[in-house]
Amino acid sequence: MKIFNTLGRRLEEFKPIKKGFVGLYTCGPTVYNFSHIGNLRTYIFEDVLRRVLEWNGFKVKQVMNITDVEDKIIKKAIEESKTISEITTPYTRIFFSDLEDLNIKKAAVYPRATRHIKDMLRMVKTLAQKGFAYRAKDDSVYFEIDKFPEYGKLAGLDKVALQSGARVESDEYDKEEARDFVLWKAQKPKEPSWPSEFGPGRPGWHIECSAMSTRYLGPTFDIHTGGVDNIFPHHENEIAQSEAATGKPFVNYWVHSEHLMVDGQKMSKSFNNFYTLRDVKERGFEPLAFRYATLMSHYRSKMNFTWEALEASQNALNNLRFEIAKLKMFADKSGSPDAENKFRFAFSEAVNNDLNVPEALGVAWQAVKDDSLSPKQKLRLLLDFDKIFGLGLENVKKPVIPRKIKAVVKERELLRANKQFIQSDALRNKIEALGYKLEDTENGPIVIKKPK
Ligand code: AMP
Ligand code: ZN
Repeated sequence: MKIFNTLGRRLEEFKPIKKGFVGLYTCGPTVYNFSHIGNLRTYIFEDVLRRVLEWNGFKVKQVMNITDVEDKIIKKAIEESKTISEITTPYTRIFFSDLEDLNIKKAAVYPRATRHIKDMLRMVKTLAQKGFAYRAKDDSVYFEIDKFPEYGKLAGLDKVALQSGARVESDEYDKEEARDFVLWKAQKPKEPSWPSEFGPGRPGWHIECSAMSTRYLGPTFDIHTGGVDNIFPHHENEIAQSEAATGKPFVNYWVHSEHLMVDGQKMSKSFNNFYTLRDVKERGFEPLAFRYATLMSHYRSKMNFTWEALEASQNALNNLRFEIAKLKMFADKSGSPDAENKFRFAFSEAVNNDLNVPEALGVAWQAVKDDSLSPKQKLRLLLDFDKIFGLGLENVKKPVIPRKIKAVVKERELLRANKQFIQSDALRNKIEALGYKLEDTENGPIVIKKPK
């Protein structure tokens, strides 16, 4: 299986540290608001990556953190005179319900930052002891980027641009501001804080992920993911902190997905151009239709969101379900194993080539149309492929057709046998008007309820 490693910016054959096992860390949500569907695109990509690893026989331990203390959360809590937990608890619940709606597999652990302050402080202490961290005049503790010669290796920063000694206190900043970044923020009035040997304060955002990933996956693990906006400063800083603290390589493969865009701009809360899964549902679409839409673009390509495209995805998903329902109606008939293997091979090739899911989706639709496959084979292939698509196709039931409709179909067959085509066409129209779709096949006519 090949995957594009942001570290080195090249396609690489994936090799796990431990045979048959993959440690996967996924930067999770900052729970101060709803996730927007851009965030959800990234979580779906991470789910697909995990499913592809599992398809290849790896056992995956996925860890996804919940950032429940951070600048934006604190700002909102202060504005609304609430505790941070009053802000984060409801949004954490909504986040999990979004994951469920999108059929995203559960991670092994969802560590919360506020429950791992000790791990973070331990890492900050190690960094201070090893001379990578210092306490500044504002009493906060900073990471000194000059002490870590490899700083910038993930984002490809020009060393000259680095401004060690200049500090940045905010958690998010641009490449132009590559400076010493904060590990432990000294308490400010009204802000939540934890006691520490550096004085009361709270962790910086970056140290949260370094401490929690190490806690659950060890000092060196296989894959770390996120959206491309996480590359700098977040992931660059994670590497610096972790490698400086442990003296070991932090992560072997960094995998990042591109943004969801609206009208040529990144979907983002700060641009106020975002939609949530609630908006999707309110407009009559299923969350799984959005999942389908994300499968149509490669994870390293920007994906443009439009309601028209979502509608097309909803229709495609309905059609796919319709095909499965139809396949379930046919008697079992085995076909040529060669033909089936050919499709399975093409599918594996696609997903193993840097997660080319759009191509894999194409293979699935070709299988639907291919006459060399028996219905039983098609069904088997589609349900197997759905282990990666995650569209819940296994839930499509064999259709139950009301007796009334079956009687009309039978009557139509008699008319057709008597070559009374005008009358038989009228009955077809009647069936359609009753909300069913009729198709004449070599195995006889089949009827299925029309997708909504
Ligand atoms: P946040 O809650 O802002 O930390 O973002 C959660 C995840 O969503 C991170 O992995 C981000 O990289 C990702 N993300 C943010 N905006 C977008 C977007 N427009 N498209 C895709 N992913 C995004
Ligand atoms: Zn993170």
